[in-house]
Amino acid sequence: MDGIWSGLADLIWPPVCPLTGTRVSGHGLLSEPGWSALTFLDAPCCHVCGLPFAYPGASGSDSLHACAPCLARPPLHDGARAPLAYDDHSRGLVLGFKHGGRPEWVDRFAAWMAMCAPDWLAEADALVPVPLHWRRLWSRRYNQSLLLARALGQRTGVPVEADSLLRRKPTPSQAGQSAGARRRNVAGAFFVARPESVRDRQLILIDDVLTTGATANACARQLKRAGAKSVYLMTLCRVVRTSDATI
Ligand SMILES: [Zn+2]
Repeated sequence: MDGIWSGLADLIWPPVCPLTGTRVSGHGLLSEPGWSALTFLDAPCCHVCGLPFAYPGASGSDSLHACAPCLARPPLHDGARAPLAYDDHSRGLVLGFKHGGRPEWVDRFAAWMAMCAPDWLAEADALVPVPLHWRRLWSRRYNQSLLLARALGQRTGVPVEADSLLRRKPTPSQAGQSAGARRRNVAGAFFVARPESVRDRQLILIDDVLTTGATANACARQLKRAGAKSVYLMTLCRVVRTSDATI
């Protein structure tokens, strides 16, 4: 019966690659050109924020090298990783997930995320999604960070703490804003509603895209003030070139 319904659904909504628009054999799949257009991030990278170094060997033989921005202004979280570069190609995938009601992609995203920081996930006590203000949740119908956290939690067995960190004000969209404007935007936007749920715990903050890190820092500040032992950040994508920081 399921086969009949999914066959019917495929007739009405034929599965297409979200990157190329061409037909694929099932929903949640990419075409071959779509796959090869994506940039998956790998070592060598900054051991703090995961920014890939420009060429192999740039980090030397020592894997504990930080990039210049992390040395100049260390983030408030303990480290960040993302499987995918945010660029012209992955943008379609992320925006489709964020605004276009494509939650069917979430399991695949979680699988990619699970592969990029297995050590952190093995040690983590809880996954904390970056919260949306209820007003934005109302208009968007779902919080993409919560969907990612739930899928990652299901895959790894790490519990999700969805109501520990909350957003007190509906911050305006960060799209196209400078790092300073983003910092001001999110200052005071988050608070920890249940400090006992984060105290002395190793947490992984979950978001869809790491751009300037302003949101992650604002969240990490509150979680650490409430007593979190560590706060790592995992996102689906991260900006690698500042010219891509338009989301
Ligand atoms: Zn870095």
